[in-house]
Amino acid sequence: MIVKIDSAGRVVIPKIYRQKFNLKPNTEANMLPLPDDIGVSLLRLVPRCANCGEEKGLEKVENISLCPNCRRVLKYALK
Ligand SMILES: [Zn+2]
Repeated sequence: MIVKIDSAGRVVIPKIYRQKFNLKPNTEANMLPLPDDIGVSLLRLVPRCANCGEEKGLEKVENISLCPNCRRVLKYALK
């Protein structure tokens, strides 16, 4: 799919890709250069549990994102 870069350097991500990759307004993404300087990739940042990688029910404990199960295990371990 061909897209154009506007005069401010912006690119509109086609709707089909926004839907497919769940890219909503204010979604954070990491833009990385591809090998051999052929372009860039855009990777959606998904908050995950720092311990197990779970995406749901995250809360910060001492500034570390943890899922409910890991918070429960940590709480038990600290008793
Ligand atoms: Zn976890």
